[in-house]
Amino acid sequence: MRQNEMFLLKLGEVVLKGQNRRSFEDRLVTNVRRRLKKCGSFQVYVRQSTIYAEPVNESCDMEAAWQAARQVFGVVSVARAVPCEKTVPAIVETARTYLAEAFAQAKSFKVESKRADKNYPMNSIQVSQAVGGDLAELFPHVAVDVHNPDLTVYVEIREKYAYVHAPAVPGAGGLPVGMGGHAVSLLSGGLDSPVSSWMMARRGVELEMVHFVSPPYTSQQAQDKVLELAQQLTAWCGRMLVHIVPFTEIQEEIRRKCPEEYFTLIMRRFMMRLAEAVARRAGAKALITGESLGQVASQTMMALAVTDDVAGMPVLRPLIGMDKVEIIRMSREIGTYETSILPYEDCCTVFTPRHPATRPSLEDVRKAEAALDVEGLAAKALEGESWIRVKP
Ligand code: ATP
Ligand code: MG
Repeated sequence: MRQNEMFLLKLGEVVLKGQNRRSFEDRLVTNVRRRLKKCGSFQVYVRQSTIYAEPVNESCDMEAAWQAARQVFGVVSVARAVPCEKTVPAIVETARTYLAEAFAQAKSFKVESKRADKNYPMNSIQVSQAVGGDLAELFPHVAVDVHNPDLTVYVEIREKYAYVHAPAVPGAGGLPVGMGGHAVSLLSGGLDSPVSSWMMARRGVELEMVHFVSPPYTSQQAQDKVLELAQQLTAWCGRMLVHIVPFTEIQEEIRRKCPEEYFTLIMRRFMMRLAEAVARRAGAKALITGESLGQVASQTMMALAVTDDVAGMPVLRPLIGMDKVEIIRMSREIGTYETSILPYEDCCTVFTPRHPATRPSLEDVRKAEAALDVEGLAAKALEGESWIRVKP
């Protein structure tokens, strides 16, 4: 790491205007501050659609901070930059040393300058020409190409310093967490629900998780695996609550009193009711699941209608139109894949019917469910609820 190195985070969703823009920026600065805290002391501020994150002292963990910055939703791109004096010689010298490796690999380059300090004696084109000319002399094997260069050297002239950096890398995109409301995500130990949670968090939704457990049919390891997944998601979403809701009695009652072909559907209706109750208490306004159309019997269009029948708030299913291969690719990218494939049972996989109904009629399912004390069972499950706070 070069001394003085800092990060420039470009804001996403530039279509946002006025008050939305302000709250976007405020939220994002807060989120960046929070997420960099564990990497040391950083000064974080916003100027003209760019967030500056400067290490305050030598003890900052810049690699960890770089990683963390790339996992903050609302940031479209991240660049490492070095500040220097606002003179052409200082800028050229900074680019020469800081970008030496990039110059060694490039065949062509250009300089792109931006001038936030409008009192600066040169305009941005003049800065680019002067800096570019000097760099071309210092690196004679690298040609100037303003149309399609291998390397673009960015120079930003701001109030106190000029900043030099190479091209930015993509950030996490989306909207700052907290801007998109608050929802409860149904988190199982599978591949899908961590990805669906991540997708909604990227749209700015603050998450709270609910996980159903059926001891002794499901084990402590299965629950720990889900907490591990939640923990991995905190790198993107920040801290979150995971509600653990006991589900054994409900499943046993369903098995005792309902036709086998409806086991899963009735179970899913209970999950919705309970998740909604948790959401209402938390002030959350939607539920999130990892369902994908046609993936299993309970995810056909008719089966989804049976589940939605009991949901009193929107059920967001971001994976609904995605193929499993795409979901797997995303789970690798967000870092949950290895944990998701650990082979522990989920309550969905105990008591699975041999021939689940794929074209259920809502009327028939409701009738089958009438054999149960739905409210009593749900209330009892909620009484047994516990929660765990998971931190990054
Ligand atoms: P996943 O890979 O997310 O487990 P899946 O393909 O196995 O999904 P199902 O087991 O039918 O599908 O579950 C569908 C959705 O229901 C899950 O994506 C998740 O949102 C929710 N869900 C399933 N089991 C649980 C559980 N034990 N606790 C909380 N939510 C669950
Ligand atoms: Mg599952």
